[in-house]
Amino acid sequence: MIFLKSDEEIELLRISNQIIAKTLGELAKIIAPGVTTAYLDKIADEFIRDNGAVPGFLGQDGFPKSICTSVNEQVVHGIPSEKVVLQEGDIVSVDVGAYINGFHGDSAYTFCVGEVAPETVALLKATKESLYKGIECAVEGHRLGDIGNAIQTYCEARGYSVVRELVGHGVGRELHESPEVPNYGRKGNGPVLKSGMTIAIEPMINLGRRNVVFERDGWTVRTIDRKPSAHFEHSVAIRHGKADILSGFQYIEEVLGDKAI
Ligand code: MG
Ligand code: MG
Repeated sequence: MIFLKSDEEIELLRISNQIIAKTLGELAKIIAPGVTTAYLDKIADEFIRDNGAVPGFLGQDGFPKSICTSVNEQVVHGIPSEKVVLQEGDIVSVDVGAYINGFHGDSAYTFCVGEVAPETVALLKATKESLYKGIECAVEGHRLGDIGNAIQTYCEARGYSVVRELVGHGVGRELHESPEVPNYGRKGNGPVLKSGMTIAIEPMINLGRRNVVFERDGWTVRTIDRKPSAHFEHSVAIRHGKADILSGFQYIEEVLGDKAI
């Protein structure tokens, strides 16, 4: 069942997502070689709570931390740890959730740690761009498959591969609602998109093969060939027929300037 949201509910979703956007901006200030992913989790947790929200991922299906931090070949759901110290040349995908006023937000960004290999930077740029290609299709009258098709077409044309095992999703009173939003698919397939739908679009794109494995910690997903993977995510409403991005990377971009992806 797809829950359509009123304009008022969409504004509440925007509040959750703007707290996330600001949290990602705070993390952009501190991501550097030598920083642990546990420290990123601590700063994010405090910032989300200082803004009156609750970390949306903490305890979700038993997840033990407030954000997900996935380094290099890790695709998503990496668990922040004191043992994971960011190194020059790493990439770290940071996924943040915040819950306030009865609504969840969900957004992710892949950061460079110092100087990163050009082929990896190119993967990040393409993944971010593919997110916006998908969002362009999130308009009334299109079908859900159009979004995945746009992301897949853009990424595969550049030689990258699209993870199949994990997908985007509806977002609202629950973190994960119907429908599933795959990053692959056929044009014209799937449900018709309607005003009031709120979805998290989140391409997970690999430099090498598309296949992934699940680590023994029960959470972390990594590429089978251990090549890098990128993840960018926005929560998007279809509002008055058009795509309305509820999250945002503007605070990250303010901090990183020219170095933003
Ligand atoms: Mg997410
Ligand atoms: Mg999500």
